[in-house]
Amino acid sequence: MNEKTEKNRILRGVGISHGCACGTLRFFRKAALVREPEERIQRSPQKEAERLHEALEAVRAHLGRLCRHTAREAGEEAAEIFEIHAMLLDDEDFLESMRVEISSGACAEDAVKRSAKQYAEILSALSDPYLRARAADLGDIARQLTDALSGDGEERIPDDGTSFILVARDLSPSDTVTLPKERILGFVTFEGSANSHTAILARAMGIPALIGVGEISEAYDGTFALLDTMDGTLIISPDLNQQRRFREKQGEANALAKEHERYLRSLINKPAITRGGHKMLIYANVGDADEARAALLNGADGIGLLRSEFLYLSRDRYPTEEELYGSYRTVVDAMQGKRIVIRTLDVGADKQIPYFDLPKEENPALGFRGVRICLAREAIFKTQLRAILRASAHGSISLMIPMVVACDEVRRCKRLITECMEELSREGHGYDPHPEFGIMIETPAAAIMCEELAAEVDFFSVGTNDLLQYTLAADRQNAAVSAICERNTEPVLRLIEQSADAIHRRGGWIGICGELAAELSLTQRFADMAIDELSVSVPYLLGVREKVTECK
Ligand code: PEP
Ligand code: MG
Repeated sequence: MNEKTEKNRILRGVGISHGCACGTLRFFRKAALVREPEERIQRSPQKEAERLHEALEAVRAHLGRLCRHTAREAGEEAAEIFEIHAMLLDDEDFLESMRVEISSGACAEDAVKRSAKQYAEILSALSDPYLRARAADLGDIARQLTDALSGDGEERIPDDGTSFILVARDLSPSDTVTLPKERILGFVTFEGSANSHTAILARAMGIPALIGVGEISEAYDGTFALLDTMDGTLIISPDLNQQRRFREKQGEANALAKEHERYLRSLINKPAITRGGHKMLIYANVGDADEARAALLNGADGIGLLRSEFLYLSRDRYPTEEELYGSYRTVVDAMQGKRIVIRTLDVGADKQIPYFDLPKEENPALGFRGVRICLAREAIFKTQLRAILRASAHGSISLMIPMVVACDEVRRCKRLITECMEELSREGHGYDPHPEFGIMIETPAAAIMCEELAAEVDFFSVGTNDLLQYTLAADRQNAAVSAICERNTEPVLRLIEQSADAIHRRGGWIGICGELAAELSLTQRFADMAIDELSVSVPYLLGVREKVTECK
């Protein structure tokens, strides 16, 4: 029996976002599509022309998606840049130049690079500043085309509107944020760990996800499968009995969930107060305005963590101040006056963005990431700070800095915020002159120094995902050590306890926004520490609210 026809193959993994799904398996094909360079040299001009045609189609489709996504997230004006890219891509002179290159023997990649260079030189020499600026856009387009030619583009999933269970070795955060969420029934990865950003995104999307199932052959692409993350199983080509049992179980789970859901809905807009009288705010972790809207519908008291880097991850160039401002405004408008904590850019480590061109590092989690990058690249940071401050004129926005280890970093951030405020005043922009300013406790250093740090900030929020990895010296991306994080939460709980004591002694405020905040077996412990706020992914908001009301 060959692999393709092997029936009811059962694979086991770890369910990290609960639920069931049945549907067709679709493989994320990045690796399979990479072509060997030698192959290119031997192709005929006709073959090269076909490859170019396919790449052009792929980039057109990608730009169309980016345009729709940006229009939804940041408004029509922000989306215009992708319309311009689409126009440049279809410029007749540019297309003709690539055709000529190919017919004189160049491979498609060289034809793209040479034609883009020539065309960019022509644009750069023009007197019109608008047209001159398009030269840089052409570089972007050429890169997208060469990515598509090497199979490293976005066209890794069929664009046919069907839904599927996505299978991948692992998914990077930038892969995950650009996937068509509405079509994904479930995620299955060969590798992965529960605290990775991809796992967090799957939970936030409410999509069932199973990790660590081991290698699955691509021969199963297009095969029907049952995914049950509670059981931790993926059954490929299930037999009729397995399908019947699955549907029965799903039916029972749905009936139970519906009853519970009715009760949970009755808690919306009721404060989360323990029986002992301690009030906890239940905030949401979100990445965009859609999630903010969902948070409000699920009774969030506010947004405790807006992972602002997602706005960078879903793009292929730096967002402008206007685009960022537009995005923050859509979140502000969605939250109807409730507090929004915007965590400033936290890239680096696993959140790599090609256009940041970050140095290759031996230990990226211990390297150039978060506030370290922001302080080293002030212009990028100030663009974001200005956009956040401008949005603060329209709602209740707090700023929060990631990856802090020392007071000096905090003071430098505050100086930059003051500089941005002065610039905005001179330019006549409005902003909140006293936005709340906080930091994350996600390094042991910040936990140990929080008494001194409290003199600099208005609030703290504990990022348990990173605090676990740095306290336990266990890379959150590495499946081989993820069990260490699961089994050894106690040292981190003690660090949180000590931080909460020190911060409360100074009359300060401390929340938790890492994944442990949604861990119901810890809610009582957090209540005992008098934690002021728990910030969790949208699907967990009501469950955590319920749990707080059951605490002593
Ligand atoms: C954390 O580290 O717990 C956190 C909330 O930040 P992120 O998961 O985005 O690194
Ligand atoms: Mg973190």
